[in-house]
Amino acid sequence: MNHFDMIVAGAGTGGCIAAKTAAEAGLKVCIVDAKKKEAIGKKICGDAIGQHHFHNLGLKEPFNNELERTMEGIEIYSPDKQTRYVVKGEKLYGFILNRHAFGQRLLKEAIDAGAVLHDSTHILEPIVEHGFTHGIITKNYNGSKNDLRGSVVVEATGFFASIRKKLQPDMAIDARVENKDVEACYREIRHLKQPLDDPTLCQIYLTQKISPGGYYWIFPEGGNKVNVGLGVAMIEGFPNPKEQLYKEVLTDPVFHDSSIIEKGAWFVPTRRPLDNMVGNGIMIVGDAACQVNPIHGGGMGPSMIGGKLAADTAIEALEKGEATQGQLWSYNVKYVRDYGAKQAGLEVFRILLQHMDDEALNYGMQYRLLTEEDVLKASMGGNTYFSITEKARRAFKGIRRFSILLKLRAAAKLMREIRAQYKRYPTTLKGLEKWRIETRSLMKKITEKLEK
Ligand SMILES: Cc1cc2nc3c(=O)[nH]c(=O)nc-3n(C[C@H](O)[C@H](O)[C@H](O)COP(=O)(O)OP(=O)(O)OC[C@H]3O[C@@H](n4cnc5c(N)ncnc54)[C@H](O)[C@@H]3O)c2cc1C
Repeated sequence: MNHFDMIVAGAGTGGCIAAKTAAEAGLKVCIVDAKKKEAIGKKICGDAIGQHHFHNLGLKEPFNNELERTMEGIEIYSPDKQTRYVVKGEKLYGFILNRHAFGQRLLKEAIDAGAVLHDSTHILEPIVEHGFTHGIITKNYNGSKNDLRGSVVVEATGFFASIRKKLQPDMAIDARVENKDVEACYREIRHLKQPLDDPTLCQIYLTQKISPGGYYWIFPEGGNKVNVGLGVAMIEGFPNPKEQLYKEVLTDPVFHDSSIIEKGAWFVPTRRPLDNMVGNGIMIVGDAACQVNPIHGGGMGPSMIGGKLAADTAIEALEKGEATQGQLWSYNVKYVRDYGAKQAGLEVFRILLQHMDDEALNYGMQYRLLTEEDVLKASMGGNTYFSITEKARRAFKGIRRFSILLKLRAAAKLMREIRAQYKRYPTTLKGLEKWRIETRSLMKKITEKLEK
């Protein structure tokens, strides 16, 4: 029977980086995916990623057929479309990818580094014995079941988290993610008759009426192609995102006579990362660990950060002996205190936006209660104070919509509080329970204050 040092479950962005990192360090790695080799990398996505991720991860920037277009920033429209913010900055400079070609490159790099691929192989469940994960049970295309054993399993199966959901509760890993923390999305890649006015900017439209709890987007791709999609929070009674896109967005004259190149629906978690992403012999990365930016839903970059950190930690643990939960814990600490703190702050910002109606958003953007700089800082995960502009001050002389101002101020404070809490993530499993209780109570306070 085959025994690997590391089994990577899922060959998405997170899984491929984990496999490549471990294989480059000399580990015997197996990467498993349900898709055929040639289809790996195909994913319903907005296809946008910041350049900084490539620099931080030491990855070659997208080139040739991987690159649809470079982007210089984003435009954010108010619900009435009367106000438009153009947000540019070093951290918003990036790329629109050909997702399939990029995924194929990541897979090739993992295989070239020495990882073995089992494609067309469905992962059924983890093999857990005496509280330790020793591998996975798979089913291949002809229906035969196999045990694949390894010293550590990296769960990177994306949103549906095939392995995480089947772990035993004594590992202290949350099996479930609440629907309110998930966006249901539908997106198409379309060919337009005319190019967009400014194909260097990604367009984001905020409107509770059309995309409650989310937004809709038009991202320029190569030539006259666009990536157009709509996401809604999965709160009771949420509308069908495809129907909303067809009814409210694709009726815009810009789409007149356009044709569909690709289409599909998928989900994205929009919350802070899981409280704990390791157990004995198991680590979780990417969407399966909720490593996604809760504001814009960007998850390729953080999944690759997670994949790299997880592999680095596993390499160290296996050098020392066994991949126990204690040996793997530092992966939690490194991810949660850094990118996790940013996600937690942005989750608060997300709750704030989800509880502002269109009228309040129109008003807030018109009077620049939130400036472009605030949006940039907030999206980067920095501390935000929501500086009040002169225009806003004048507007508030008449004390109209004073409640919005108070809510913004409260949100900025709560974002700083939750970030500080995430920076205090415990250095050992022993501190987890206390930290969890504190975090839950802080999140309760946040939702009570912002949902009012
Ligand atoms: C509509 C939409 C728009 C988005 N836009 C953006 C964007 O513009 N920028 C951005 O950065 N992110 C975006 N995201 C998020 C981004 O796509 C994900 O966060 C990212 O792909 C996560 O990578 P991952 O490696 O965790 O999982 P995935 O890329 O989902 O990979 C998981 C892999 O596991 C395999 N798998 C799953 N289950 C099994 C099983 N049981 N057996 C075998 N194999 C299995 C799958 O085949 C897949 O290859 C968007 C998401 C959606 C839904």
